[in-house]
Amino acid sequence: MKVLVINCGSSSLKYQLIDSESENVLAKGLCERIGIDGRLTHKPTGKDKVEIEAPMPDHTAAVSLVLQHLTDPVCGVISSLSEIGAVGHRVVHGGEKFAASTLLTDEVLEQIEKCNELAPLHNPANLIGIDACKKLMPGVPQVGVFDTAFHQTMPKKAFLYGLPIEYYEKYAVRRYGFHGTSHSYVSKRAAEILGKKPEDLKVIVCHLGNGASVCAVKNGKSVDTSMGLTPLEGLIMGTRSGDLDPAILEFVAGKTGMSLSEVLTVLNKKSGVLGMSGVSSDFRDLDAAVKEGNQKAKDALDTYYYRVAKYIGAYVAAMNGVDVICFTAGAGENDAHLRKSICEYLGYLGVEIDDEKNACRGEERVITTDDSKVKVMIVPTNEELAIARDTVALV
Ligand code: ADP
Repeated sequence: MKVLVINCGSSSLKYQLIDSESENVLAKGLCERIGIDGRLTHKPTGKDKVEIEAPMPDHTAAVSLVLQHLTDPVCGVISSLSEIGAVGHRVVHGGEKFAASTLLTDEVLEQIEKCNELAPLHNPANLIGIDACKKLMPGVPQVGVFDTAFHQTMPKKAFLYGLPIEYYEKYAVRRYGFHGTSHSYVSKRAAEILGKKPEDLKVIVCHLGNGASVCAVKNGKSVDTSMGLTPLEGLIMGTRSGDLDPAILEFVAGKTGMSLSEVLTVLNKKSGVLGMSGVSSDFRDLDAAVKEGNQKAKDALDTYYYRVAKYIGAYVAAMNGVDVICFTAGAGENDAHLRKSICEYLGYLGVEIDDEKNACRGEERVITTDDSKVKVMIVPTNEELAIARDTVALV
């Protein structure tokens, strides 16, 4: 079956068409500036890339353009839309209602809408994408795959905050965690590569991209993760602060005259390694700045590495041990210096990095020495493939 995977943001839409039997990507691409002017980048496998400026007043227009390109005689990869057997959608927040992927019936869509207030930047956009696909591909099954679902196995002690309990009971304020599709895929793939069953392993997955989170996966199940009610908690990220003393919000608002919501925008968009260094949110730029002697960039990276190492330590405690630590996502997969710097804190676990094995980018491999007590691995994430697999399983 051919599965169209859709990841819809407020002004962008990423897509992949995947053949579920071979698991090959037939085409992938990106619509940007939806509602502004519109730009499409379409990459059909084995054919030339197409980049066009085209009006995209809304998401329906964007999906329509994607479908036209997928079926185009020159840059297309299928002869008609009837070849698309199902559509898998990334949905950011499933609240406590969704512990697994699900077919998107009208009733399910209503329930997702109720989660909108938990992810006001993401969920409404996801729903618009689903609506557009339903309109343009009536009768084709649509599946929702939730970023939060994998973490629904967390025990209460891991997901409750130290707040008056009625905030949880009345308003569902708790840790949900995100990147679940990636943590699930990477932990299972690591077990597969090692020839072990996920049920027999304690794995810590470090998903270090623009957004970043760590997850403790015990016997195949998420038992704790660093993001919380929203994706702001936990690690220092590209532009997000991660953990901080909540009293800082009022203090900074008082000093700067900003409103609470303006301070939150700073925490989400102008903090992290970008805010700390004043250079960039991209680790490649920061590495270059450090080489040129930029002290703030060095401090930002040192603080970033240290925070990741502290979370790893916390999750070793949460699981009473660890067998495998995995690095994934943009920086985790590609930045050898970052992996090495984080693992330098893990000598007490018996982690020994093999520099030759670590000197690589984006390859599935073990990067510790044969004697290392804990294995450290690079496992490139593939959220689209995971979404396609779940979609096929449900239809
Ligand atoms: P997201 O999906 O969250 O947008 P990615 O997982 O694609 O993010 O990660 C993007 C980030 O990965 C970039 O901002 C950059 O910091 C980092 N990155 C990508 N390639 C490299 C590289 N070769 N070396 C270091 N960092 C890299």
